[in-house]
Amino acid sequence: EKKLAILTSGGDAPGMNAAIRATAKIAESCGFEVYGIRRGYLGMLNDEIFLMTGRFVSGIIDKGGTVLLTARSEEFKQARFREIAANNLKKKGINYLVVIGGDGSYRGANLLYKEYGIKVVGIPGTIDNDIYGTDYTLGFDTCLNTILDAMSKIRDTATSHERTILIQVMGRHAGDLALHACIAGGGDGIMIPEMDNPIEMLALQLKERRKNGKLHDIVLVAEGVGNVLDIEKKLRGHINSEIRSVVLGYIQRGGTPSGFDRVLASRMAAKAIEVLNNGEAGVMVGIEKNEMVTHPLDEVDSTEKRKSIEKDYELALLLSK
Ligand code: ADP
Repeated sequence: EKKLAILTSGGDAPGMNAAIRATAKIAESCGFEVYGIRRGYLGMLNDEIFLMTGRFVSGIIDKGGTVLLTARSEEFKQARFREIAANNLKKKGINYLVVIGGDGSYRGANLLYKEYGIKVVGIPGTIDNDIYGTDYTLGFDTCLNTILDAMSKIRDTATSHERTILIQVMGRHAGDLALHACIAGGGDGIMIPEMDNPIEMLALQLKERRKNGKLHDIVLVAEGVGNVLDIEKKLRGHINSEIRSVVLGYIQRGGTPSGFDRVLASRMAAKAIEVLNNGEAGVMVGIEKNEMVTHPLDEVDSTEKRKSIEKDYELALLLSK
């Protein structure tokens, strides 16, 4: 008998629910008995594993967050606790697992696969877009649109008061959110961790803008670059305009998933079940060049192998002048 469990782990992201729904529906149609695990690996350890009925996933496609709840579990990193977790699956006869989360969650999934032979597939769910092997992660597009909405509102004040406003956005070690927001929102400056960001260069660009008659500036600062208040302080020595900073924070993580994220979630879920049906496991699904692809979880660890963003950075600089 084929029994499959679904869990969400790590930071929540819009689109996770759409992925849960599609995974459950498609798995069921392929003859799997479908289980849900609450609170990620923590719940697997504590045996919060339940038979998922069709009703559980109805009406959730447009909801942010994750109805399965998410948590972090330090214990799960230890072999003796993983054994307990794996046994909780085994005693219910569950031998398939879909993990929706980030690269930390994949490391845990890969260990379950290697140590206990549980057939796992990962679905990349994080707003940060920081996972190797996929052009987009679930939640990134929704988050980007939330940031764009905030930028428009913040720009009203920046314009009216002729200020320079720094907006710190999420992304962990990745600059994708800041970069895309700068390009799509008409940002006037950008700082991301992947690139060298001398404060002098930003200052020069902002001074040049004012010289050209621009009366305000919006600068996107990725959290990976450091605290925006430190950057504000440094910038003060270089430019004369009034500077303010805003940390967007958790509003970026929530909200109704965009159409793009819902379609992506559904396609990723379909690919995940297709992979398991083909007898493959120990992989993550992704989207590359608009094709659904898989990569071994072993390869996902390395963030250095991520896609190049240099072209987009050049474009952002060009358009923000
Ligand atoms: P994300 O999946 O968003 O990257 P985390 O890095 O917090 O989030 O990872 C989520 C969970 O995955 C952790 O709380 C832990 O239970 C599990 N995990 C992370 N790294 C490992 C690891 N090296 N070994 C086993 N489990 C891990």
